[in-house]
Amino acid sequence: MSTETITHDVIIVGAGLAGTWAAMIASQEGVKDIGVLSKIHPLRSHSGAAQGGIAAAINNVRPVAGTGPRGPLEQIPAGDSAVDSIETHVFDTIKGSDWLGDQDAIEILVSDAINIVYEYEHMGCVFSRTPDGRIAQRRFGGHSVPRACYAADWTGHMLLQTIHEQALRHGVHFYSEWYVLDLIIEDNICRGVVAMDVLTGEIHTLHAKAVMFGTGGYGRAFKISTNAHANTGDGVAMAYNAGVPLMDMEFVQFHPTGLYRLGILMTEACRGEGGYLTNNKGERFMEHYAPDKMELAPRDLVSRSEQIEINEGRGIGPDGQGIYLDMTHLGREKIEERLPQVLEIAHNFMGVDIIKVPVPIQPTAHYSMGGIPTDAHGQVIADAEGNPVVGFYAAGECACVSVHGANRLGTNSLLEASVFGRRAGYSIAEFIKGGAELHPLPSDPGKQSSERIKHLMDDSVGDNRESVAEISKAMKAMMTNNCGIFRDADGLQAALSNVKQLQNRFQNARVMDKSKRFNTDIQGALETENLLAFSEVIIASALARTESRGAHSRIDYPERDDENWIKHTIAHKNGGELPVLSYKDVNINWEKYPPQERKY
Ligand SMILES: Cc1cc2nc3c(=O)[nH]c(=O)nc-3n(C[C@H](O)[C@H](O)[C@H](O)COP(=O)(O)OP(=O)(O)OC[C@H]3O[C@@H](n4cnc5c(N)ncnc54)[C@H](O)[C@@H]3O)c2cc1C
Repeated sequence: MSTETITHDVIIVGAGLAGTWAAMIASQEGVKDIGVLSKIHPLRSHSGAAQGGIAAAINNVRPVAGTGPRGPLEQIPAGDSAVDSIETHVFDTIKGSDWLGDQDAIEILVSDAINIVYEYEHMGCVFSRTPDGRIAQRRFGGHSVPRACYAADWTGHMLLQTIHEQALRHGVHFYSEWYVLDLIIEDNICRGVVAMDVLTGEIHTLHAKAVMFGTGGYGRAFKISTNAHANTGDGVAMAYNAGVPLMDMEFVQFHPTGLYRLGILMTEACRGEGGYLTNNKGERFMEHYAPDKMELAPRDLVSRSEQIEINEGRGIGPDGQGIYLDMTHLGREKIEERLPQVLEIAHNFMGVDIIKVPVPIQPTAHYSMGGIPTDAHGQVIADAEGNPVVGFYAAGECACVSVHGANRLGTNSLLEASVFGRRAGYSIAEFIKGGAELHPLPSDPGKQSSERIKHLMDDSVGDNRESVAEISKAMKAMMTNNCGIFRDADGLQAALSNVKQLQNRFQNARVMDKSKRFNTDIQGALETENLLAFSEVIIASALARTESRGAHSRIDYPERDDENWIKHTIAHKNGGELPVLSYKDVNINWEKYPPQERKY
């Protein structure tokens, strides 16, 4: 296999919001030689699937006085006082994170929110509007006021189209359908990546002064997931294999409303617009779990409540594993205007008309709070002391800044990808313009990747051949059963030995398709290997954390333990052994936002 070397000043892996913002800004700041690689067409990045909204305290709407917490919203008349503030958004996010988010980073996220939303608007993003033409806002779980700016239920699509156009305008070069297999770091200096041009099957080395990952999330490690097929956490696995630690990987968010058995997302905006959750007795059971916020409590709490209803026999559907999401009282007009995509998805995938009947849903893996640790400038850090990996940046869902801590609030993630993608763009530009060097590559950098592919195509294993699809299926079922919404030591121990067995079985996994061009079989195998690599980190980190916090819920340790566990998990690879765990302090402003009981 040829291993041609391509050189750029900057290589960005990922063309979602995080990667594209970074590329656009770095280019605008004068760095002209930028290549962005994406394993799928850039506009098919998962950012484009986001439905519900992007949070910012822009104060355009408020609840109508006297109508209660779920009543209608109205635009705030010019001159009337604001309902929202940066401080309220910061506090909601900290509380949502169950006090594991870094409060300095959260303040940056929230302060930048307002100008990033207006920047999108000025670039031409078609937001939904209030009657007088301002950007409309809706309610979202865990946010104490309506703060989600949206474009019907196509928000991510609109944002991604907008920023992609701007990147093209700034001359950013996109490598569409290039699959990155390997990250080159030597002596703690990042030097480039190794990638396969999916169309030709050729392996290339991309040599750069700076590399940024905006590779997105890893919800595909679970059986039921809202995530696109591409969300296999390649970036986190590559970083981990190259010696970079992973942070807070035990915190995986389960969204309360994925379509029953399929997992496809019914956006939280369904509940934001007033949808109810009911069990098989027709009860709005959230009144037992979050009497104040009801269905608009944060996702970890709502998903757990649903799972308890299901486990205690009050679920719906033939196997009792579902719950009803009821929007029939919202009326045709509101649903068609605000939730057109949801209407279509429920119809196409379930044959359900949500205007007339409730739609069956269930909790579904959705978002990865953990990832590659970075500072607030997108600079990747190498250890708990905060030392940098020179020339390596990350932002968006693959990174962990950490603004979401143990649980993310809906609409804070499009925000995170935009805000920290943009910030990474500025710091990359500064790094390059400050005289960053092109450090030499190791000899034959593409060799390992070429050999991996050769190995997967080699048929000498005969009858010992293992099927990639079966290994992947077994792993996803195991992650869902043993490392899902509820966890305990026995289940996690079993999961650890199970993932090791699956990694061993993978040694004999082989692909059927031996061709070079568009070999999706090979890509699927490499992705499965990545899933197996970081799933072990999720399990090991979850086993070590003997408390319940945010999305990490241990039935054997049901309480939050602030005495011992207000700290970030840092996991380093340790050859073939279990990851080595160390811990890093959480940035807390003890006077302003000290930990409190988390009630909704
Ligand atoms: C269905 C759904 C709805 C959501 N709705 C909302 C919402 O309403 N509000 C909100 O705030 N958040 C929402 N989220 C979360 C949010 O969309 C994501 O967290 C965010 O968009 C991630 O952006 P990103 O730029 O980090 O990654 P992504 O947009 O996922 O992009 C990842 C990029 O990395 C590339 N890539 C990955 N691996 C490789 C590789 N090996 N080689 C080459 N390229 C690679 C991909 O091709 C892609 O371009 C939603 C998520 C889902 C799944």
